[in-house]
Amino acid sequence: MCVTNKVISTPYIDVNMDIPESHPRYISLKTRQKLVEGVEKGITSKAGLIAHGRGEALDYMIGEETIEPALKAERAAVRAILDADDPVISVNGNVAALVPGEIVALSNILKAKLEVNLFHRTDERIDRIIKWLKEHGAEEILGDEPDAEIPGLDHARALCASEGIYTADVVLVPLEDGDRAQALSKMGKTVITIDLNPLSRTSRTADITIVDNIVRAVPMMIELEPLDSAFDNDENLADVLEHMSKRLLLQAGELS
Ligand code: ATP
Repeated sequence: MCVTNKVISTPYIDVNMDIPESHPRYISLKTRQKLVEGVEKGITSKAGLIAHGRGEALDYMIGEETIEPALKAERAAVRAILDADDPVISVNGNVAALVPGEIVALSNILKAKLEVNLFHRTDERIDRIIKWLKEHGAEEILGDEPDAEIPGLDHARALCASEGIYTADVVLVPLEDGDRAQALSKMGKTVITIDLNPLSRTSRTADITIVDNIVRAVPMMIELEPLDSAFDNDENLADVLEHMSKRLLLQAGELS
């Protein structure tokens, strides 16, 4: 009898798997692969994998493409960051794993500071993310010496840099937790988020919510012209929900 201790993985979590570009879920599988690698490198938390799963489910309903309301929100975000006095882009473990080079490029183009800001904070993970972003071209990154606290949050979740998120007037906080988004908003900041869930507390709290996958949104924002007309976040979220509902009804119609 042949005994083997080889672990049989599902194709979804085998990071060494060579995914053929012809695979219908190529982009989605590649994205998962990046996150699993992020966990292996100690950049992404395991909980980050679960958050990604929630995002994926919603992306499926959206149609896995950048829809019109998302495009408008992306342009509004570019406008708000360009017009800010002191904009900061917050980077967590999922953002670092999925779009490291792109988020650095966006911060350079929009002249926004980068700050590593983790929900499951450890000094080691902060240092690894900073190193990783530097390997992707970042020069200065805040977050390793937090000297301020966001009011209303417990100590670990509140930590931030006084010359970064604490004093920023505009913050881009992609894939953020609702409590922190609310606390930042209470501080009077303009909060921008990228969140595939139009119903999350973060999406509802932010001034500008980009309901798009971060792997599409950030490269898009690098290219986009800033929005020159008014932007209403509630209206935009309603447009996203309408898009999703119509899509689902269409699918239901095809089945009946
Ligand atoms: P909230 O606290 O805001 O109500 P939540 O508890 O779901 O929401 P988290 O799990 O901390 O918050 O945040 C993760 C959010 O990021 C989720 O809303 C998820 O849909 C979204 N998300 C996950 N992966 C992506 C991605 N690749 N692109 C955009 N959004 C994503």
